[in-house]
Amino acid sequence: MSAGNSKTECFSFDLPAKITCPGMTGECGKDCYAAKLMRVYKGVAAKYARNLEFANSSQMVSHMIEEIPTSCQFRIHVSGDFKDAKYVRNWIKICKARPDVIFYAYTRSWQVKEIWQHIRKLHALPNVNVNLSVDDETGTPKCYKAQEYRWCYLTKTDNTPDWIRHDDIIFRSNHLGQKTRRKNAVKKGLNPNDIAPLIKRLGGLVCPKEQGQDTPNFSCAKCMLCIDKPKIPAYV
Ligand code: SF4
Repeated sequence: MSAGNSKTECFSFDLPAKITCPGMTGECGKDCYAAKLMRVYKGVAAKYARNLEFANSSQMVSHMIEEIPTSCQFRIHVSGDFKDAKYVRNWIKICKARPDVIFYAYTRSWQVKEIWQHIRKLHALPNVNVNLSVDDETGTPKCYKAQEYRWCYLTKTDNTPDWIRHDDIIFRSNHLGQKTRRKNAVKKGLNPNDIAPLIKRLGGLVCPKEQGQDTPNFSCAKCMLCIDKPKIPAYV
């Protein structure tokens, strides 16, 4: 288990990137931040490899039920994904046994039919929210009842396709560049909003951490946009 970083302030459990991602697309695989971390920090790669061994062991369920801190927010995977149906069933057992904890996840494994039917059961628990990760390669999610889930779209160009809905969430791969442009504008005495305006909407709602400004003392645990279950009428 990892204690949260300053972005999430949520605990997490992580697996090695890519090899546990059956729904990986060329788009997400190419720029995968977790795979980069694993390349740069050997300790991180070793930890995720140990986690995978643990996830395949008979101890996973009982140990996680005992060890997840009380009444926290818990992100299932900052790195990795729901790798197979049995693994999702383990999470169903863990989440059912810990109603005091709010669990959330992003997944591209919705593309694998036999995994998706179990992810749906996981999402149906009152203390779990699963978001569907999408990109230009996945296109509109076509899995059963996909409309009832929040979709999280990764844009590399600050464009979004017309199938993104008003309440979906947009992640930008170039928000750090925008922060730098804004800082440089301030240094030159220019108005940052003229040089690099904040982007709050691109069809869907841009993640507040990626709108192009520093957001001190703000985290996923405070934001909750990805953590709360979506209001279904907004999505159908
Ligand atoms: S939208 Fe909010 S909850 Fe989702 S990643 Fe961004 S800060 Fe975190």
